[in-house]
Order: sequence, then C-alpha cells, then structure tokens
Amino acid sequence: MKNSIYLDYAATTPVDPQVAEKMMQYLTPAGVFGNASSIHVTGQTAKKAVDDARAQVASVIHAEPEEMIWTSGATESNNLALKGAAHLYQRKGRHIITVKTEHVSVLDCCQQLEKEGFSVTYLTPESNGLLNLERFRDALRDDTILVSVMQVNNEIGVIQPIETIAQWTAERGILLHVDAAQSIGKTQLNLQKMPIDLVSLSSHKTYGPKGVGALYVRRRPRVRVASQMHGGGHEQGMRSGTLAVHQIVAMGEAFELAIEKFDEEQKKIKEFKQYLYEQLHAKVGAMVNGDWDNAVPHILNVRFPGKKASDLMNAMPNVAVSTGSACHAKGTEPSYVLRALGLSAEEAHSSLRFSFGRFTTREEIESVVDLFAM
Ligand code: PMP
Repeated sequence: MKNSIYLDYAATTPVDPQVAEKMMQYLTPAGVFGNASSIHVTGQTAKKAVDDARAQVASVIHAEPEEMIWTSGATESNNLALKGAAHLYQRKGRHIITVKTEHVSVLDCCQQLEKEGFSVTYLTPESNGLLNLERFRDALRDDTILVSVMQVNNEIGVIQPIETIAQWTAERGILLHVDAAQSIGKTQLNLQKMPIDLVSLSSHKTYGPKGVGALYVRRRPRVRVASQMHGGGHEQGMRSGTLAVHQIVAMGEAFELAIEKFDEEQKKIKEFKQYLYEQLHAKVGAMVNGDWDNAVPHILNVRFPGKKASDLMNAMPNVAVSTGSACHAKGTEPSYVLRALGLSAEEAHSSLRFSFGRFTTREEIESVVDLFAM
C-alpha cells in the first residue's frame, strides 16, 4: 500500500486509528460484548455504550438521541426513509419528488415505489449540478407526500439548497428526506435550523467502519416510517435486528472526531482541491464538472477533453481515483450524474473524480500533478 496514493475518499475512507482502537474494546470476552437488549449487567453496559454513541451522532446534526435509528448504512437508511414514509403516508397522496443525480439507492427505491403505484417526478438539475428552485416549486403537487434531495452529491460534490427546500416542504406539510451520506465532516447540517424530517447517514464515509449507518426520524412534529425489517421491535419498532454495538460505538466516535477536526481538514483540503485543479487545468486543459462555489472541497470531478478516463487510470495504476460512484464502477455506462448535467457520453467518459481526505498529503497531490506533466 505504501506506493499507492488514495484519492477515492468519496467511495470509502479508512477507519481512523483512534476509532478502530475504541471499536476493539467492544468485541472480546474482556470487552463490552453484550447484547444491548439484554437486561443483565453485560447487556446494559452495551446499551449504555449504544446510548452514548446515539448522543454523539445526534449532536453532530443537532438532533435528539431518540431521533436516531441505527441501520447498516446509508443504503438501508434510504430504503427505510423512502419506502417506509411512502408506505405509511400513502393515504395522504402518492406523489414523490427527487432528482436525477441522487444516489442509486434513492433512485432504485423510487423505481420500486413506481411499480407499487406511486408516481415519481425526477427533476433534472442545472448544468452545474444544482437544483433549480423554481422548477422544484413547480413540481410540488397537492398529492406530493415526500421529497428526497441529497445534501452533498457523491460524484461532483455540489451542495444542494436544502435549506430553502426544507422551508417550502415544511410550509406545505410535505415530508423531506435528505441523503447526507457525504455530508458529515465536509459541510454543516443543522437540523435545528432546517425542518428536515428524515436524514440518512453512513459511517464509512467519515472514518468509521463499513456496515453501519443511521436514519434520523424527526420527533417534533412526529414523523414515522413503516419498518422494512421485521423482528424484535428494536429501534422503536422501526428497524429490528440485534444492534452491532462495536460498529455503533465506532460510528459515534468517528462522527465526534469529524467535528473536532472539521476546521483543520477543511482548510487543508480546500488548498489541495484548488492546487490540483489549477495544475490540471494549466497542464492538460482539465475542466471542472459541477458548481465550484457551492461544493465541498473534498470532491473534484474534472473532464479531460479528448482523453479517456479509463486510459488515464491505466496510466497511473498506483493512484486510486474513480470515474464515478463505486456503486457503478463495474459498469461501462457513462455516469448518469454527469449525463444529467448535460454532458455527452464522451465527456462523461473523459471525466475522473478525485476525492481527498484526512490522510491526504501535499506530497501525494504533487506526485499526481507530476504524472500529468505530459
Ligand atoms: N448515498 C450516498 C450519497 C453515497 O455516497 C453512498 C455511498 N456510496 C450511499 C448513499 C450508500 O451508503 P452505504 O455505503 O453506507 O450503504
């Protein structure tokens, strides 16, 4: 691994060593290994750890601990939010609004709901990736029950105007779901200031382990979702399954750490993005995909006119970058996100996503720049 340069933090992040160390204390006979539902002391010690992690994660988004439902990751959170809300509120209406650039786990749920008789409007963003608010307002209908718009896009890093969307949906009594899998540690998400009803979170995009996430479900006014996983009635009956205490504790620790390190990381990563883009633009005429100003610094998606992204990747085998979402990495189709921005298939095929993170160094960025000294 020494010789490789990892610039794919939007696909996943390594677990922070501090987080891994904490996680290991919740596994072995000497550690806190109990079932958090057991009433004996071993179980209750585990429950206390889960409660502490719940408070840590909630505080990052300015929510209450009881509003957090543990899941296996943002894919499951998105499924629970979309299908769970649609199923529970369908008597109010059967119309849903989302955006063509959402994560595949949101779009697939919408397609499933269409098969069940719901009607879904898929909004096309502007060429900079941002949602046109007027077009969004025009799409709202009397039978709209749910809107799903992500905060940070995983391929191009743009930040959608969810504050305004939240005001409008709240005024009309429509539920708003926000996929915030890419938000934590990269931008602010304050639920005291934004009336959002459902928020999906993932641990492994923020230096926690894979296989754990959470869904925020608003309590005031009270929002409910129909369980998609039936069993022992865990998580207020919304998501059954024995809690993965070690992963949950690790997610709590990782989220707290993300806030501690926020300012320092933001500053460093902003410089990396600016420098890499300036250099790639000057050397090979690279162009940015997506809005520059309304975006997190952690993601830089650029197209290289006249070049194929796959050739560029082959020419730098030690640099881990991607051509789009890892969820689609095996496909040969051009990125649907870039296509939704109006890029041609050729332009999309000439684009690469660089994503930076906690362990990225200036030397690594410079080494990548040197590879482009063609
Ligand atoms: N939403 C977004 C925006 C993502 O980037 C991802 C991860 N690629 C997911 C959802 C799915 O998250 P998880 O891997 O935790 O299921």
